[in-house]
Amino acid sequence: MSFGITDPHLTAMDDDDTPQGEGLGMEKLVREMLICIGEDPDREGLAKTPRRVDRAMEFLTAGYRANVEEVVNDAVFEEGFDREYDEMVLVKDIEFYSLCEHHMIPFFGTIHVAYIPDRKVIGLSKIPRIVEVFARRLQLQERMTQQIAGCLTDVLKPRGVAVVSEAKHMCMCMRGIQKQNSMTTTSAMIGAFRDRPQTRNEFLSLIRGNG
Ligand code: ZN
Repeated sequence: MSFGITDPHLTAMDDDDTPQGEGLGMEKLVREMLICIGEDPDREGLAKTPRRVDRAMEFLTAGYRANVEEVVNDAVFEEGFDREYDEMVLVKDIEFYSLCEHHMIPFFGTIHVAYIPDRKVIGLSKIPRIVEVFARRLQLQERMTQQIAGCLTDVLKPRGVAVVSEAKHMCMCMRGIQKQNSMTTTSAMIGAFRDRPQTRNEFLSLIRGNG
């Protein structure tokens, strides 16, 4: 899923000479890195790598240059019929890709987001875009989860927000610190999801697919 941001593989593989994006100006640093790891940055296969890495990092950290207000834009609606809208709104299995701030190595997985509106609702397609704003940064999984919940709380002033993320951290898998298939789960529960076990349990059973 790409939600309107350019696919980095198209940039990297199909169009070496004019990759999209302004770039971050990291080419010299990447060249230095190649030397530090014992590579020859002038060999043919690596000639364009600094530029590709620069553009890939630009994409993977696009959240620093995104603005939640712009993303949400005019997709928040005030509903008069709050009885109709006081049920849980749930968007399940949103894919995300982030970079851990300790190693700058990917962690990725799925996020489930739910809220109980208090008159204000948001266009459903905006929820994955909000996830992207916070995922495409150097992150801690716990903080990303909190930031997404906090953002929806600010924007919607809802009765409750719940965010659960499940992720694989490549910095653990690839370095052999944990078994390859271990998942890390983090959650943020606000308002009704924190205060009412029944609401929280309904959410948890829906995301587990039993609801
Ligand atoms: Zn890490």
